[in-house]
Amino acid sequence: MKIITNVTEMQALAKELKKTNSIGFVPTMGYLHEGHLQLIRKAREENDITIVSIFVNPLQFGPNEDFATYPRDFERDVSVCLEEGVDIIFNPSVAEMYPKPLSVKVLAQARTDVLCGNSRPGHFDGVATVLTKLFHLILPDRVYLGMKDAQQVAVVEGLIADFNFPIELIPVPTVREEDGLAKSSRNVNLMPEEREQAPEIYRALLAAKNKIEAGERSIESLVTMIRNDITQKTSGTIDYVEIYSFPDLQTIEKVKGKIIIAIAVQFTKVRLIDNMVLSIE
Ligand code: AMP
Repeated sequence: MKIITNVTEMQALAKELKKTNSIGFVPTMGYLHEGHLQLIRKAREENDITIVSIFVNPLQFGPNEDFATYPRDFERDVSVCLEEGVDIIFNPSVAEMYPKPLSVKVLAQARTDVLCGNSRPGHFDGVATVLTKLFHLILPDRVYLGMKDAQQVAVVEGLIADFNFPIELIPVPTVREEDGLAKSSRNVNLMPEEREQAPEIYRALLAAKNKIEAGERSIESLVTMIRNDITQKTSGTIDYVEIYSFPDLQTIEKVKGKIIIAIAVQFTKVRLIDNMVLSIE
């Protein structure tokens, strides 16, 4: 396994490899867990070469967000990647990726006025900008993204289509802890009692799914039910509970077709997100 920190070297190697190999790309911010591993395993199955980027991208963090406290453990990430058979880790520094202020940025204009796009202004511009750079450096045939960040999947689908990147996006289902909490690098920053309460987010999603299966079609009733559940069972503050069509993230009058139920809850040091995508007749 190779570890590359230099952008020129990364691009030169990708160009060379691409002549005779397919490249699967897993972009991450490191502190790898089972969710990331699922993406890596799928990439390995479907491509000759698997490249994992580990880069905590400052552009996608707001001024009051957790860039500084975002968990990092590069050595452990290296051994995990080695064990998983990753071919290349791309681990540039911030100065390597952004040696001077960018003269051009990518603006994510659609699908960003709701959910995390609304609560984290500029977040998806940062994601779209870094991925544009990474796509040019890594030249992947396929990119693997987790459905835990469903809005990211929707936005990147737009980025790939609008800018004609010759890349296939492969969404991967959310990997959960045994108690249902979606795996996340940020979970380590939950207080112990918050860690106990956090699975209530997934339980609320499951309860909503059950209600829908029993015939509930009202968005308002479902949102109220989820909000009550989370307010009563956790000490977190709800950032949003919203239901939209998926993947276009449009407002819907009632539950019908492919929908996403998405939740964000702010705990003391961590904001957790989770979602469920359902197809309803
Ligand atoms: P991150 O390192 O948090 O930026 O995540 C890197 C990639 O892993 C993104 O595509 C995430 O959606 C994905 N990911 C993170 N957590 C999970 C999870 N629990 N299950 C599946 N994919 C995940």
